[in-house]
Amino acid sequence: MTKPKIRKIKKQPNDTGISGWYKIAENGSKCQKLEENITSDWLVIGAGFAGLAAARRLHQLRPNDRITLLEARHVGEGPAGRNSGFMIDLPHDLSSDNYSGEGSEKDNLQTELNREAIRFAAQAAEDYGISSEVFDPCGKINGAATEKGASHNLDYAKLLEQSGESYEMLDAQAMREVTGSDYYLDGLFTPGTVMIQPAAFVRAVADNLRPHIGIYENSPVIKLSRQSSDWLVETPSGSVSAPKIILAVNGHAQSFGYFPGRLMHVFTYASMTRALSSDEVRVLGGQSKWSLTPADPMGATIRRICGTGGDRIITRTRFTYDPSMEVSQSRVEAVGKTQIDAFQRRFPMIGTVPMEYVWAGRLCLSFNGVSAFGEVEENIFSACAQNGLGAAKGTFSGMMAAELATGTHSVYLDHMLAQDPPSRLPPEPFAWLGANAVMRWREWRAGKEA
Ligand SMILES: Cc1cc2nc3c(=O)[nH]c(=O)nc-3n(C[C@H](O)[C@H](O)[C@H](O)COP(=O)(O)OP(=O)(O)OC[C@H]3O[C@@H](n4cnc5c(N)ncnc54)[C@H](O)[C@@H]3O)c2cc1C
Repeated sequence: MTKPKIRKIKKQPNDTGISGWYKIAENGSKCQKLEENITSDWLVIGAGFAGLAAARRLHQLRPNDRITLLEARHVGEGPAGRNSGFMIDLPHDLSSDNYSGEGSEKDNLQTELNREAIRFAAQAAEDYGISSEVFDPCGKINGAATEKGASHNLDYAKLLEQSGESYEMLDAQAMREVTGSDYYLDGLFTPGTVMIQPAAFVRAVADNLRPHIGIYENSPVIKLSRQSSDWLVETPSGSVSAPKIILAVNGHAQSFGYFPGRLMHVFTYASMTRALSSDEVRVLGGQSKWSLTPADPMGATIRRICGTGGDRIITRTRFTYDPSMEVSQSRVEAVGKTQIDAFQRRFPMIGTVPMEYVWAGRLCLSFNGVSAFGEVEENIFSACAQNGLGAAKGTFSGMMAAELATGTHSVYLDHMLAQDPPSRLPPEPFAWLGANAVMRWREWRAGKEA
């Protein structure tokens, strides 16, 4: 008899810094760790947007099947709970000058797929009674702080016009009324983005799936092997035996041995102020919540929030390419200092406000902007590589992986299967040198937008 092939998982997720979203989320349910050997009809690995969407869709399609989900960390501690919370409907290509794409059929299709993901998430929010503080279909603004940013906004507006998409241009005065700041020359509002409190959202989805699905946290998959027709998946203190697996670990697909040399691991960084005092809120002015992406994709994303956790401002800047899938605490602190500067330039009227939380998080991109999707080995289905837009794209790829694995036909799945696979990256160190050089140059060029 041939010995079963055993695969050790090469690397476990390491999330540097504490996400403010995770800390201020109220729904901190008790985590259950896998401490036994179980069998299941389905196993989902990873409880980010993709894993939770896959689990929900599987439960819709196979309500009587046993579904298990394993997460290495606490749900909400990983990238899905440390992002800026923009669930964006329109194309949002971080490698472009102004996100706007070309107004091509491909872009229109991307919008349709993102909107399908948003509908799915909105239905979950409705079914689970998730509040508008956590899931808010309020739209977002592309804020321009420079003439160049303003011209990006104009180009974007033209394309939106051509595609029949609604939008509104805001002048400097209107931007001041929204943000309280003189920093922005103009803004382009689009209504289709949903703003989420990312950690509270993924925790709420997990909590509501728990009665139907075995969700185990702090249960990293460390080994995978084939045992006759099932996969045996081991964690440090238990195991799951299941015929079919959905792998929803984004860039860590590589740690499982899939897509070698085809996934780009990029980090971005965020800071959240402490809760503002009522005096600071008064001096700041503007609306009590708003959400800005930068007109130049290399600029700063800024959000103001209110409600649970108080009035706070969140700043996200910088991208670094780190194939090790890890960044140091000192890097996070250094970027955090530049974010204090970005904050003070925008809000000089409230002086120095300490950042209570500073953190980094992983993105996974492919060179040709496609996801790492499909059956990667017999009965293992990948829903990975969200190209920086995991709130919508991760949700979509999780839904589609569940459809593919259950043999459920849909036109959306046909679109997903028609994609090219992720293309090969240049060898290291050339990829590292090239990607970081391009990002540093583009950040420098973004100037005051950052
Ligand atoms: C600061 C920041 C801001 C961002 N802003 C936005 C934004 O506004 N909008 C947007 O759309 N995207 C944003 N992103 C990107 C977004 O967070 C990611 O694209 C998204 O989280 C990817 O979703 P996912 O479910 O595919 O993967 P993840 O969210 O990475 O989930 C994968 C999960 O798999 C788990 N895992 C990995 N290995 C194992 C293992 N061996 N065993 C068990 N579990 C494992 C991980 O712990 C993780 O929880 C941002 C990211 C950061 C860091």
